[in-house]
Amino acid sequence: MAKITVGATPIPSYNPYNQIRFDKDPLSEELWDKGYGVIHEKAVKCPCKSANGADNKSNCLNCGGAGWLFVNPNKTKMVIERQSKNEKYKEYSSNMIGMASVSALAREDLGIMDRLTLLSGKSQYTETVFADFFVDGKKTGRLVYKPIDIFCVFVFVGESNHLRLLDESDYSIVGNLIKIENNEINNISNLTLSIRYSHRPVYHIIEENRSTMVQRDSKDKEVSLPTNHSARLAHYVYDSMNYEYDSQTKTGLLDNSFTEKKC
Ligand SMILES: [Zn+2]
Repeated sequence: MAKITVGATPIPSYNPYNQIRFDKDPLSEELWDKGYGVIHEKAVKCPCKSANGADNKSNCLNCGGAGWLFVNPNKTKMVIERQSKNEKYKEYSSNMIGMASVSALAREDLGIMDRLTLLSGKSQYTETVFADFFVDGKKTGRLVYKPIDIFCVFVFVGESNHLRLLDESDYSIVGNLIKIENNEINNISNLTLSIRYSHRPVYHIIEENRSTMVQRDSKDKEVSLPTNHSARLAHYVYDSMNYEYDSQTKTGLLDNSFTEKKC
């Protein structure tokens, strides 16, 4: 009877030159070269809660009731690709709408819910706005994004009437607020507007696909490789961004940034 032996893969002789080594600089340079200009703000949970499990306070001027602060804006570059572009052979579902893949240098320390504003892009958005609070005695509504250009603003004036198209002089835009300047329109009760405008694309990080990995480079130094995250357009993540606090109008959110403002 043949002798049964248990095979074993021979242990490879150690040769440091056979190892895969990563050189950070070419990778970083590639990312920097292909990247888009982005403002990255770090997300922090707002502590406006109590131990009894209640939700964040809706009147909290730090988070606006959404439970998140976005601090320390930093201008940098990241590779951001719309994910639907790469989903050619996969079933298209509404879960994919507004999704993007984000590759960034490890030093950016990207985290869940961090906010990324693309500086070069421009998107179109339309929304219904309730002008339900007052600034300087004028009815004001809050938009999801800060507009770049306004295409149109309509006011609802009854089911059987045409919508009223507002003239540029009928309103003003302050940050992401629309303030009604026309007194006749200010007198309409339950004032509801529809607006279409362009804005910078804004994403929130929703998932970490590849965390920071430390490797050795060809000079045997430790290097951190770029990270990859999934992000989603802000209006699919939560409703109103309401980001800047304006001390004159006392609207917007308080800025809790604690580093010198770089952008
Ligand atoms: Zn809060």
